[in-house]
Amino acid sequence: MLELRPNCEHCNVPLPPASVDARICSYECTFCAACVDTLLGNVCPNCGGGFAPRPVRPARDWKGGNSIVADPASTAVKHRPVDLASHAALVARVGDVPPERR
Ligand SMILES: [Zn+2]
Ligand SMILES: [Zn+2]
Repeated sequence: MLELRPNCEHCNVPLPPASVDARICSYECTFCAACVDTLLGNVCPNCGGGFAPRPVRPARDWKGGNSIVADPASTAVKHRPVDLASHAALVARVGDVPPERR
């Protein structure tokens, strides 16, 4: 199940579960849209993959008991600011490759 991490791993801005600014890679590395777009070049600094908007878990039980009430967001903050110099080297290697071909 998607972890729904509470913050941007780089700038630590809060990303509550209903945020439309949360972006995740396939490993659930979680960043804000501003960091993904302006700093990271849509390259995950941890795995090199691309990002997608994080889906919002329903706030209430629409069907089958599946909601943020039954399955709450993670509260474990991961704040590991990106080393932008080494990230630039990664972007130089993979940034021109579309995420679906990395
Ligand atoms: Zn951020
Ligand atoms: Zn990643």
